[in-house]
Amino acid sequence: MDIIHLLPDSVANQIAAGEVIQRPASCIKELVENSLDAGATSIQIHVREAGRALIQVIDDGKGMSETDARMAFERHATSKIANAADLFALTTMGFRGEALASICAVAQVEVVTRRAEDEVGTRLEIHGSQVISQEICSAAVGTNMKVKNLFYNVPARRRFLKTNTTELRNILTEYYRMVLVNPQVTFMLVSDDEVLSDLPAGTHKQRIEQVFGKSQRNQFTAGLVELKTDTDIVSIRGFVGKPEYASKNPQQFFFVNNRFMRHPYFHKAVMTAYQGMLPQDHNPSYFIYFDVAPEAIDVNIHPTKTEIKFADEQTIWQILQASVREALGKFHVAPSIDFDTPLTDLDLPQVPVDPSRVQQPRMAFNPSYNPFERQNNTTPNYACKKSVPQQWETLYKAEAGQHLDNFSATAEPSQLFEKQLSDDLSLPENVQPMQIAGRYIAIPASGGLLLVDQHRAHIALQFAAAEQQRQSGHTLTQQLLFPETIELSPDEMTLMRQIQDQLADVGFDLEQLSQTAYAINSVPALLGSEAPQRCLTDILAAARETGQRAGEEWYRKMSLALARNTAIPYGKTLSGDEMQDLLKRLFTLPTYAKTPDGKTILSLLRENEIENRF
Ligand code: ADP
Ligand code: MG
Repeated sequence: MDIIHLLPDSVANQIAAGEVIQRPASCIKELVENSLDAGATSIQIHVREAGRALIQVIDDGKGMSETDARMAFERHATSKIANAADLFALTTMGFRGEALASICAVAQVEVVTRRAEDEVGTRLEIHGSQVISQEICSAAVGTNMKVKNLFYNVPARRRFLKTNTTELRNILTEYYRMVLVNPQVTFMLVSDDEVLSDLPAGTHKQRIEQVFGKSQRNQFTAGLVELKTDTDIVSIRGFVGKPEYASKNPQQFFFVNNRFMRHPYFHKAVMTAYQGMLPQDHNPSYFIYFDVAPEAIDVNIHPTKTEIKFADEQTIWQILQASVREALGKFHVAPSIDFDTPLTDLDLPQVPVDPSRVQQPRMAFNPSYNPFERQNNTTPNYACKKSVPQQWETLYKAEAGQHLDNFSATAEPSQLFEKQLSDDLSLPENVQPMQIAGRYIAIPASGGLLLVDQHRAHIALQFAAAEQQRQSGHTLTQQLLFPETIELSPDEMTLMRQIQDQLADVGFDLEQLSQTAYAINSVPALLGSEAPQRCLTDILAAARETGQRAGEEWYRKMSLALARNTAIPYGKTLSGDEMQDLLKRLFTLPTYAKTPDGKTILSLLRENEIENRF
């Protein structure tokens, strides 16, 4: 007896769905891409229970005929390509004809659609690949696709989904990737009746501001410079962040031919262009849009993959790197982009002037310029806030004595030090430490020359103070005389809601003001007069990274964010006494060689290493 038989379509489709539709976010991506391919100018996305119960995408695109509506759900049914050659001349997002077949295999789908040329529309219902009903109906031009109970017939898949918050975050990630490259389309995202995002049509830069500008205006939107390069093989447009706006939570996007892509190799090109300009642990934001001939890329890798192969990657690497460098070189003279003013207006003089008397400002661009090298007395922008020095001094002096008293009874600093670093090393008395490059404290020690990273040393101390307060249950808070506000993106609003209670535990009293903002009523006393927004943004970035946001580990993360935002910045000049105090206090800590996140605080330049230099 023969045993091989063809699988029924419904089963084949379910298997395919495993590849294409992994979670609500991927379903939304497929539906929205279809709407974009249909020429929609307005796309609304509604989800319930993070897409578990309902995903609905409504567009005003070209719609489908009665027959096409039925055909669309067949496997390998597409209007976008006809033969294999078309694969290399793609101008649409979709082409496989797999998405709708996959979706209807694992959900209950209802579609209502009408073309402009038809009097009436079609309503079609399909559950698990089985057509339940098809009828004519009245409908607006466009397509209204409802996907209910995703994976209702694949319990294993449904169980595999993460919490609603995580799934919603995945949805937002996909959403941002699509809206940033389609600014000409109006988008709206509604989750359980709450409008998470409502984006009018505009230019690319306006869209970037709509999405990220509010919450992070000072961090990068204001600090973006324009990128523009045209060559025979690629045209590159976009915006890159000035080095001093680099952050720990940068927004980095590549797009090619209107498609989001990940490209680690090109990412390196961008980072190379920034070489030597970035403060440690900080990275620039960028939004870079490539345009190449469709045949020069291969997008046919995998439906859910975002890696894209280019025919001429090395050349594009060079062009990209040069282009970013040029843009960064120009920023010394170019005004930063004002998102409300069209760029061309910026070039016009504000008052009538006699052109013959005006000299165009010119500045040579030095590609090896490193703004962080000249630190003798100046402070780099990223860490420089006018209030820091004074504030730090008071904070520091108030705490220093107390700390030492507490600890000197239990451990001799030099003993501890010896134990951890070297057997024959101790700190000499009465020797003045020296500050190097505004970053390091150098002091002769018996084994050689000890180098201490001032910022990291203070992070360790501030962290210890924050943890001590928290564990003793006496978190000191400081009421703000004038509550500050923090503007947040929809994604951050969701996160904030989740961690609000824990933030209260460490001293932040927050109150939701609107759909996009929180008021900050009080802050941890340790934070003092620092801008609390920056610290909260750091905490949100940590919350985004870690799935787990409860328990000891999470509280330590918050303490670390607090410590980082209050630690003495690089570039701050320290007096001899301040350095002595810092070192003494550092060695009272049980772990003073590394920061809580494992960064090296001190390093010994050994005698023999010094000898070898001569
Ligand atoms: P693909 O996008 O790869 O062609 P899909 O399964 O996503 O495959 O869609 C199948 C076909 O259904 C598309 O080629 C298109 O003709 C039609 N279609 C899907 N969604 C829409 C929509 N929102 N508006 C108009 N036509 C659509
Ligand atoms: Mg499609």
